Amino acid sequence: MTGVDGVVRISTPLGGRRNDVYAFVGSARTVLFDTGVAGVATDFILPGLAAARVRPEQVSHVVVSHCDVDHFGGITDARQHFRQAAFLAHPKDAGMMQDFGLYLQGRGRSFYANYGLDEPPLDLSWAREVTGEGPIDVLVTGGEWIDLGDRGVQVLHVPGHSRGHLAISDPGRGLVAISDAVLGSAVPDADGNPLFPPTYRHVADYLRTIALVRSLAPSRLVTAHYGQFEGAAVVDFLDESEAFCRTVGIAVDTLFTTDHEAGRTLSDCVDELLPTLGTWPNEGRRNALAFPVCGHLEELVRVGRLTLDATVRPAVFRRS
Ligand SMILES: [Zn+2]
Repeated sequence: MTGVDGVVRISTPLGGRRNDVYAFVGSARTVLFDTGVAGVATDFILPGLAAARVRPEQVSHVVVSHCDVDHFGGITDARQHFRQAAFLAHPKDAGMMQDFGLYLQGRGRSFYANYGLDEPPLDLSWAREVTGEGPIDVLVTGGEWIDLGDRGVQVLHVPGHSRGHLAISDPGRGLVAISDAVLGSAVPDADGNPLFPPTYRHVADYLRTIALVRSLAPSRLVTAHYGQFEGAAVVDFLDESEAFCRTVGIAVDTLFTTDHEAGRTLSDCVDELLPTLGTWPNEGRRNALAFPVCGHLEELVRVGRLTLDATVRPAVFRRS
């Protein structure tokens, strides 16, 4: 348990990281938030629910937060145990949860076609192995309430890390579960040490999401990979996340101010910024940093400070 009545935290391993799944348990219904990777429902979620005296048939809804395999890869496994549950996701992410080809195109290899930056083959084969994609029953866009019996929880749309990221607000418990919607200044290992850069992708959405969570003023913020934050630590985490985002934004803009003639690919920008933005030991740090750097580059194109030449491969950014 998280220490909050009616909210069950189920901790699952993810390599050297943690990956927490939550269940919101009410008198009439239970909502499961995320499925983990393939096998997690069998090995961790069922035993976790049993320890909290929740039977599988009490699970009425499975809300899948977003289109990364550590969150949706267990859909098929979860479906076998929670047969009566409706599986919910946002339309902008749901397609990728149901079709691995769409996932590769839109997420797993999303920098490849335009920017020539690909994931290592080992990471791609790992993603294939841990993913049991499957159907989503209900598309939700945020704002929907789920009646648990003794209280309600609300689905929130919190884009930024992905376009269709969902969170769950449990106002009766003063708690918001955000999965990966807000990402601090590093994604940590299981002991809380920085591992790789925060992988937000859509900058304006991400800042709006941080502001939305701030406005809800939860006394407890629970995440997939960072554990949970309570009281003043909630605000500290939101501040840290926003400050990191603003720092990267300035750093990306400055690249093109100091040498305004030069065109740069996404890889050029990542390589120039990697030594300056933080210290991350994980070898995946370069590809992880491509997410926020690409997000800021595209934001600078959107506001007219940069242009993008997409007639060449990889595409080249230049000062306008
Ligand atoms: Zn994740």
